[in-house]
Order: sequence, then structure tokens, then C-alpha cells
Amino acid sequence: MAPRNSPLRNLSIFGSTGSIGQNTLKIAARFPRQFNVRALAAKQSVELLAQQIQVFKPDLAVVYDADHAGKLARLLPEQSGVTILHGDAGYAQAATLDGVDLVVTALVGAAGLKPTLAAIEQGKDIALANKETLVMAGELVMERAAQSGSAILPIDSEHSAIFQCLSGQRRQDLKKIILTASGGPFRSWEAQRFSGITVEQALDHPNWSMGPKITIDSATMMNKGLEVIEACHLFNVGVEAIEVLIHPQSIIHSMVAYRDGSVLAQLGIPDMKTAIAYALSYPQRLAIGQPAPDWAAIGRFTFETPDLEKFSCLALGFAAGRKGGTAPATLNAANEAAVAAFLNRKIAFTQIPRIISRVLERHAFNAAPQLADILAADAEARRLAGELIARELPEADNQ
Ligand code: MG
Repeated sequence: MAPRNSPLRNLSIFGSTGSIGQNTLKIAARFPRQFNVRALAAKQSVELLAQQIQVFKPDLAVVYDADHAGKLARLLPEQSGVTILHGDAGYAQAATLDGVDLVVTALVGAAGLKPTLAAIEQGKDIALANKETLVMAGELVMERAAQSGSAILPIDSEHSAIFQCLSGQRRQDLKKIILTASGGPFRSWEAQRFSGITVEQALDHPNWSMGPKITIDSATMMNKGLEVIEACHLFNVGVEAIEVLIHPQSIIHSMVAYRDGSVLAQLGIPDMKTAIAYALSYPQRLAIGQPAPDWAAIGRFTFETPDLEKFSCLALGFAAGRKGGTAPATLNAANEAAVAAFLNRKIAFTQIPRIISRVLERHAFNAAPQLADILAADAEARRLAGELIARELPEADNQ
């Protein structure tokens, strides 16, 4: 039951038809007195979006293409009362809608950046699932959020854990952030087998159920590289303050070590609903019906150091984070292009890090980019990656 006096939060949800978006709506449906869904934005899954509109009755629904907007309108009854928009202008409208106070950003990839910035300009709080936004333009985003008073509440489970472990602590006592990683489905595979990895094998994550792009990122461990950069911006620390630790059980979602030797951790079953609920209702905790881990059934926790040679995407993430400037935006865009090509069976799994690393070598580095420079670096990286993919790199030695 919803606690009394809990403020009603008016939500705009980007990526409502994806995994995070659907889980957000489950929570909103369970606590109708606490959450009012005012806007839904998706890329193109119009059938599901139409169902969501009929259940949650938002004022505004947005898809990216005009064709999809037309299709959506045809799927809805005439008196649905929802305004349907499309394109960048539609996304901007959903991000800045009057009366919305919390924007959930769960679009996939670089598409999340502009609406997130638009919402921040209006001082709206952000429940951030789209890590690419901070990877691309973390400095700019955090600076503008500080200016407008927007709170950035992480939905990424590791960052939610760190956020909770930092709560009530003095920053000068912080020694290290320990970002845990499951290691993905290929953690214990020999490197020689990596070139034969199929799309199906890479999509079969042992612990987490997520969308295809992030699942491939978990298999390459690029996801952890992106999360290192995300953590630097969210918590205002350098890359050297972050350590990645493999924890295959995915029960410890991350830890923070302090200078007296204490380590605080946040634990839970691997299900995104806990982190989503915390971002939606912070500092309250909602009774979402999530069980605590079954300790005796889990039996033991294990830990390993990540293998940066086998998972060179993680090494690329660390390097881009250290370099800063346009390097993370370039890394991110090249990765998106390479992952899409792998999912479309145009390149092998082992070509993903090779394409990203070649794009990073070639890109025109800018140490202090403005938003326009970041967007240009993103476009340039996609173009370079596209060229490399089209040339179908010969499958060289396994790295
Ligand atoms: Mg994560």
C-alpha cells in the first residue's frame, strides 16, 4: 500500500516499450496514487505503445517516424484523447511537458541525449537509464543539471547501488568505487572460441533479462566500460577511483570502499525493478513485492579480476574514460554501429572491439567539446564504423 503523504510524481517515460520502460509502467500501475503517467515516448513499437496508452491514458505519445505516428493513431479509438507527435520536436515536447516533474530516460543509445538535455533545461528530475547520455556528454549534462537543479537519479543497477552506498557518507572519506560485473555469458570461455560466437549465444545472458543492445554490450563487457564512464560523471570521480570486479552471481550490485577499510555494498536479486523503483520514489522505498535473495540457495559469492585482453571492449572503455573529450562519444557511437552490425550478422563478435578501436584511432580528437562537437564526433564515428563494416574486415587472429 502506498504510504500517505507521498507526493504524486508526474512521469514522462522515454523508451516505454523497452525492458526498463515496461518495468517502470508495472511500478506506476501498482502505485497509482504516487505516479501519474503524462507522456510516453518510444521509437517504433506502436502496437505495444497503443496498449500502454489505453491503460495509462497519457496526454502525449511520441514515436520517432511520421509513418509510425500515423500507424499509432489508427490503432487507437477516435476519442482516445491523446496527442500524438513524432520526431525530435515530439521527443522535445515529451521531455519538457508542463506538469511533468520526473522524466524516465530509457531510450537505447545516443538518441537519449537531446531529450535528456531538454528536460534538464526545464529543471525536471531525471531517472536515468540511458547511460549513453552520460558517456557522450557527461560533463555538459551534469553541469547543466547543477545549474537547473535537476536531480539525476540512476536506474542502472550498479549506479543505483553506488548512489545508495554513498548516501549519508562524507565524500572525502571515499576511497574506491567497486563496480561489479557478471562477466556475461563468455566469462569462462577460452579466447580462441570468441570468433565463433553467434548472435543467439551472445543474447543469452546468464543473469539479467534486458534489451538486445545492452545484452550484447554485456557479452563484450563494453557495458561495463560505458558504466565506468557513467560512474565518473554521476559521482564526480576520476577513472582511477573505479575498479571493476567480476561477481558472477550478480547479487552484489556494486560497492564503495572508504578510507577506514569499510566497504558498503548494496545487494538484491538481479531484477531491474528495484533500481527503477528507487529512482522513481527516492528517498522512499516502495513495497514492490520483490523478494530478498535466498542466501542459503545462493550458497556463496565469488569474485574475479576481469581479463582485459579477452574483453578488450572493457579496456577500450577505460582508455576512452581516461582520455575524455570526444573519446567517449566516439567509443559509444562506434560501439552502437558495431553491435547493430553484429546483430544483423554482418560482422563477427571479435570484430566489434576491432572496429571500435580503429574508429578511435582515426577520429579527430577534441579535448574540450561543446554539444555540437560531441554530436559531430558521434556522426563521424558512425560514418567511420560504417565504412569499416562495409569493407568486411578480414577475420584476423583472435585477440
Ligand atoms: Mg548496469
